[in-house]
Amino acid sequence: MANKGFQLEEKMGVRYYIIPAFEEKGSVIHGFSTRYGGVSSEPFDSLNLGFHTGDDYHAVLANRYRFCQALGFSPEKLVAGKQVHKDNIQNVDFLDIGKGALDQDSAIPETDALITNKPGIGLIAFFADCVPLMFLDPVKKVIGIAHAGWKGTVLRIGQKTVAKMKEVYGCQPKNILAAIGPSIGPCHYEVDKPVIEQFQKQFSNWAQFMKVKSNGKAQLNLWEANRLQLLEAGISDVKITVAEICTYCNPELLFSYRYSEGKTGRIAALIMLVD
Ligand SMILES: [Zn+2]
Repeated sequence: MANKGFQLEEKMGVRYYIIPAFEEKGSVIHGFSTRYGGVSSEPFDSLNLGFHTGDDYHAVLANRYRFCQALGFSPEKLVAGKQVHKDNIQNVDFLDIGKGALDQDSAIPETDALITNKPGIGLIAFFADCVPLMFLDPVKKVIGIAHAGWKGTVLRIGQKTVAKMKEVYGCQPKNILAAIGPSIGPCHYEVDKPVIEQFQKQFSNWAQFMKVKSNGKAQLNLWEANRLQLLEAGISDVKITVAEICTYCNPELLFSYRYSEGKTGRIAALIMLVD
């Protein structure tokens, strides 16, 4: 069985999750933020980390400082992509430091996943129901992060991120630790026909993560869909941690796009190699 359990931490008033399996390796700073510890007002209260949400720019900037400082570094070290629900994966180098860190315009265009082997670069991605994926190869010292909503999951962005880590850095999938973060759970993710058809077309094992109901809709389990992809990519089951925390079930703790009908903030997943 895959590992269960993310652990809630609090530093400088900021509440965030860590993955014990990642923490044990001692080679990364990482965290998944919650709504706690920021300065934004409703409906972005309070730790909204996404600039593209309609929130006040200065509030989001202050929130990014708070989150990064709680983790022990400065937000100038961040790199973010402009997430578009596609499968472009950017290999990040020192020259990219600061892209999308303090504003949205400078983020790397059309990019939903980032990898690097350079220390001191904070790979960050933003979520409000979509699935955060995080990777760490403690042998080659390579990290990755991906944004996998239903479209990214159909495009197999998790598998492709692992493939890119292999291709660029020679990572062996069996060494890679992976985490599937807080996002909308099977309890609250009803999808309709066009989505069902995409999954049925792309995955022969779709019945393992999607239950079609008598009303023609389906309950989709994106956690399991992504877990199965990572297993197929060669990551070992014991090295996958699944948070099993549903954003919709926890609207006070996490931002949920569906729960708030679109008007909400973003939580972030962040990972950085340390020297
Ligand atoms: Zn739920």
